[in-house]
Parts: sequence; C-alpha cells; structure tokens
Amino acid sequence: MESILNSPVRYLKGVGPKRAKSFAKSGIITLEDLLYYFPRRYEDRTNLIPIAKLIEGNTYTVKARILGCVERRSFRRGLSILEAVVNDSSGNIFCVWFNQSYLRQYFKPGQELILYGKVERYGKRLQINSPEFELVDPEHDASLSIGRIVPVYSLPEGMTQRYFRYFVKNILDGYLPKLNDFLPFDIRSRAGLLNLAKSLLEIHFPENDDWRKQAYQRLAFEEFFIFQLPLALRKLKNKEKPGIRHNISGNLIGEFISGLPFQLTDSQAKVLEEIKKDMAGGFAMQRLLQGDVGSGKTVVATAAAIIALQGGYQAVIMVPTEILARQHYEKILGQVAGLKTKNAKIRIALLTGSIKKNKEKLLREIKSGRVDLIIGTHALLQEEVEFKKLGLVVIDEQHKFGVGQRSLLPQKGDNPDILIMTATPIPRTLAITLYGDLEISVISQMPAGRGAVKTLTFSHNKAEEAYEVLRHQLQSKRQAFIVYPVIEESYALDIAGAKKMCEELKKGELRDFRLGLIHGKLKPTEQQDLMVRFKNRELDVLVSTTVLEVGIDIPNATCMLIAHAERFGLSQLHQLRGRVGRGGHESFCLLVTSSATQNSDARLQAMVKYQDGFRIAEEDLKIRGPGEFFGLRQHGLTELRIANPLVQMQLLKKAREEAIRLVNSDPKLEARQNILLKEKLLERFPEHEKLMVVG
Ligand code: ADP
Ligand code: MG
Repeated sequence: MESILNSPVRYLKGVGPKRAKSFAKSGIITLEDLLYYFPRRYEDRTNLIPIAKLIEGNTYTVKARILGCVERRSFRRGLSILEAVVNDSSGNIFCVWFNQSYLRQYFKPGQELILYGKVERYGKRLQINSPEFELVDPEHDASLSIGRIVPVYSLPEGMTQRYFRYFVKNILDGYLPKLNDFLPFDIRSRAGLLNLAKSLLEIHFPENDDWRKQAYQRLAFEEFFIFQLPLALRKLKNKEKPGIRHNISGNLIGEFISGLPFQLTDSQAKVLEEIKKDMAGGFAMQRLLQGDVGSGKTVVATAAAIIALQGGYQAVIMVPTEILARQHYEKILGQVAGLKTKNAKIRIALLTGSIKKNKEKLLREIKSGRVDLIIGTHALLQEEVEFKKLGLVVIDEQHKFGVGQRSLLPQKGDNPDILIMTATPIPRTLAITLYGDLEISVISQMPAGRGAVKTLTFSHNKAEEAYEVLRHQLQSKRQAFIVYPVIEESYALDIAGAKKMCEELKKGELRDFRLGLIHGKLKPTEQQDLMVRFKNRELDVLVSTTVLEVGIDIPNATCMLIAHAERFGLSQLHQLRGRVGRGGHESFCLLVTSSATQNSDARLQAMVKYQDGFRIAEEDLKIRGPGEFFGLRQHGLTELRIANPLVQMQLLKKAREEAIRLVNSDPKLEARQNILLKEKLLERFPEHEKLMVVG
C-alpha cells in the first residue's frame, strides 16, 4: 500500500518546476519530507515587547514600521551600509544591513515588518545589526506570522518565511486528517505520546510551549524507535539459530593466560569472563568490546580465539591495516609459541592483500582446517577465502569497516561467535543507539605502570620549543613519532607537505638523528619495512601521516609531535596519542598548531586536560554534535533529525524497551496494529526485509 506521504511535492498545487527544484535541494522530495522539515527555531510573537522596553545585549522579536531608509557607502571598509529607522507606538530603533543594497526596495516608509536580532547600543542609539526580518502583509498572514508562536525555517532557495509557513500550513490542513499513526496505540499510551497528526501540527505551529515540547517528545521517540527496531529484530533473529557451545574449560586457555608476560588487569579478566559465558552459551556471541587505546584488547581477543581453538574450531581476527595485521600476527605468534592443541602445535597464518606468494597454498590450508588462527585484513572477505570450521570472528577497530563488511566474515562460518572491538570509546547511551543489537563489554582500566602522557600545546611560532622537548627524548635514547595530517581533499598536497617537513627536519632541528617517512602512498611492504626499522631502533623518528593511527605498539617511543594539530578531530588526536606512553617511561604528546580557531582550541585544551578516552569522546560529542562524531556517519546517526541520544537518554531508553517488547510479542510485525509500522520500517531500511520473513 502506497502511503500518501510518499507522494512527491512536485505535484502539489502551487509547486512549479522551479519550486520543486529548490525543495529538492533542501531534501524535500515527498510530502513526508515536507512534514518532517522542522522549524529551525521559533519566535514567540504572542506578546511582542514594545521598542521602548528593549534592553541592549538581549535578542528580541520586534514588530515595527519603516520610518525611513538610507544607503551609505563606507569606502574605507569597502561596504555598502543600509540603515533603516523603524518605530512602533512606543519608540524607535535603528536597523543596519551590510552589503545588501537590494533590500532597499522592500523598505518603503510605512511598511510593517517583524525583526529579529540582538539589540546593541551605540552612544544614545539602539541598533540591531543585520536582523532577520519579515515583511508583514496584514491581510494575509495575521494568523500565521503574528500573535502566536511562529516557526522559523531554514528556507529552501528563493522562498520566504511567509510563503513557506503558508505552504506548510496548507499541507498540514489538507493531509493531517487523512494521516494514520504508524506507532501502535498501546505504545503511544504507555509512553504518554501524542499521536502523529497532532505532533506534526504542534511542531510546526505550536499552540504553546508545552504542546511544542510534547510534539517534540513524540517525534524524537519515533526516531529513536525506528532506529532501535531493526537492532531489536536482529538481536532476536540471532536467537533463532543455535550457536556453537564452545569448550571453555580446556587446558589451553589456562596455559595461554599463565604463559603471558603480564597479569591480566581486573578489567580484562572480567571482560574475558563475559566473553567465556557467551561462548559457552547456546547462541552465537554478538559482543562489542570497547576499550581505550592501549587498554589491552588484543590479548583478550586472542584469549577468546584460544578458547575456540581448544574445542577444535578455527578463529579469525580481522584488522583494518596491513601494518596492524603483521604486528598482531607477530605478537600472537610469540604468545602462543609452545601451546598445543591435541598434540599439534597451534598454527597461525597471516592473510593480507600484499601476500601473493604461496597464497593458493595458504587458502587450501585454511579451507582444510590445517590453520587454526588466521589474522588478516579486508583480504579475508574475498570469496576465495573459505574455512573448515569457523568458530569465532574478531573484528578489531571496527569503525574502520563498513557495516556491510562487518557481516561478511561471519557468513563464512555456521553462525560463529562474533567479537567486535573498538577503541573509539563511545558513551554508553550512544553505544546503545548504535549497537543496540550487541552486548557491550568495556575494559575500563589501563595496565599498571602506564603514566599519563604529558600533553602540551604550542602555536606555530613556538614550534622550536616542541622540537626541543622531542630532541631531549631522543638524546635519552627514546624514539619519537611526528604526525602530519593528510586529508582526503588535499591528499597530494599534504603528502608533499609531509615530505617537505621531513626534509627540513633532517637538515635542521633533527639533523643529528635518523628519520624515516611513512605515508599512505608507499606500498604496504615499504611501510612495513619502515615500521620494522623503527621497531629495531634503526630509526629514531618516524615522520608519518595518519597511517599510524590505529594499533601501532612500540614501547620505546615516548614522544609524539603532531603538526597542524587543529586539523584533527579530538578522538583522532586521542588515538594518536595512544601510540606513546606504552613502555612505562615518561611520555609526551606535543600539539603544534598552525592557526587556532575557537573550536580547535577547546579541543586541544580537552586533550591537555583529559587522558581518559571516554571523557574525551564526550567532549568531542559536545563540541561537534553526534552527527559529526568521528566515524559515526556510516551508522545513519545523521538521520536523527531531532532526537539527540545524549540529551534524551530516558526517551532513548524507553524507545529501546518498547522496541524489544514489540519484537518479542510480534517478531514478524504481522499483527494488525503493527502493519503500518512494518511498512514504515521497510521504507526506511529496505534491507531489513530479511529480518522479518520466516527464518
Ligand atoms: P589496544 O587495546 O589499544 O588494542 P593492545 O592490545 O595493543 O591495546 O595492548 C597494548 C599493549 O599493552 C601491548 O603491548 C600489550 O601486550 C600490553 N598489555 C596488554 N595487557 C596488559 C596487561 N594486563 N599488563 C601489561 N601489559 C599489557
Ligand atoms: Mg588494538
């Protein structure tokens, strides 16, 4: 059944091709898009303040009449200045617009208008600079623009507030009576929510603030709910099929743990217990493991792999980069040396894109089960990779993989256990929003002996001081990273910048030391080679683009200098900083900025102040908002138009509970009261059809 909401606005009365085009540019294609195109803000025009009562420094909405208007040119400032005096029965005020001469035609004496802006004082006169304004047409918009709470929209090109308001109101009047609510009645009444028609009306044209809030509540709930529903369905689906009951009490895991050169932290041990419980259980594990950089996720993942192995299964660990794959491979090789399954040594293999030699043989060995643990990159996803008895899939640094990629690897086994790891510490509420289909474990503790990484900021002209600190570390036989940002849009230029900087350092500040340059344009083998030389201390400094970001583990590196630090996101800076301070020596992170904007200042100060990744992620979210938050774009978080998981935690919780309750009682959404909801869901997430068919 086609809902009326899907009909294109293009065919509505009064919408010609030109308007249709500017609607489309603002993302308004269907009627639904229009109804969900919410106001950017509201103006309370019920009781407008008379001009005589305005107080400087505050922002007001004023209704006034044009007395006169002049245009001046300031040649010194290269500006045209349009100045209008407006009044009401109580007094007058000046309004000034810069470089907008064309406005003059509207400001005829006697014209009534609504102005919105901050009142300032210049000597005796009160003035509003560049106010937003609307011309008042007393005959037409008495009801929509005056004497009420008025919506103010981000306007599609070429439209006025007045027109847009009028248009939206017309649509609301015409269609709301025909609109059925897709949220089932019982959910609405349990959660105390308005119905859809009333909510849409009130969000656009609120009767009063209380109604507006209720409308907002309902629409935010709806967003959360639609977002949570597929996650709840997926979670349920997972419980339909039996999983592998892994053998968690074998000797191998104990030998592995006691063979480690360190003791697991309490937090690691606790997480491992959670994992064991899942692995032993009758359903496939679906767990997200969060832990700050350096908290020791890899060894926990390896332990999980060992558990799979001791019951005769294969395990696979997928990581986002070649370097990381090799590093894990070598480390794990060392940790399991000497361990045996059923009298045979554990066999570990590395599979990455650059492995060409003996690849056929390797693939055969994986398929025949001769290899137990496979570590690799995206290359693992290729069709030719087949397993004999895949029991566990670990995906490290999962935000580097697309959501689709995440599900490819498990499909190579028969409902294997899945452990997903991330070092982007996501505040819990947000984690639930994004990963509502997963159980969540957190390593909340760092291994002992890790000091804080001392973090200092330097402006560009003080960069020498930063190099002084760095040199001092090198003289104490420590090593250092220098990171140079490379952004996609200016890739070639940035690489050139990194090269140039490296050359200059070799001749200047760091002439006494051995430098290597590693960047994304080098072949993986070349990158690997540089890493190995750095690790073997044949290089003192590794200048690098962000290739370094994930996972590199070199305890002797105690200093990281980040150039153009303001170009990095907060979470990214934190990830980078996690590369140092791993060896128990005093460590430094030196943030050198080229130009500092306010935003980046707040970010860099957060780095100086906080070491804890969760704390930093929260700051990042505050500064950038959830849509922009590092790496989250792919999750469709930006589809949340008004709901904010950080602010409306209770509502999110309620939406989640209702989603779970619903899928438990009607897993295929086939009950009559859920039909509309099902349609809505499939419209939004067509790929979820699968979740709701008989499985
Ligand atoms: P991440 O969580 O960032 O992936 P890693 O697993 O790479 O962290 O661990 C960082 C370093 O800490 C590695 O060298 C690892 O061997 C070491 N490590 C892990 N757990 C412990 C522990 N409990 N005690 C001491 N060192 C540990
Ligand atoms: Mg790691």
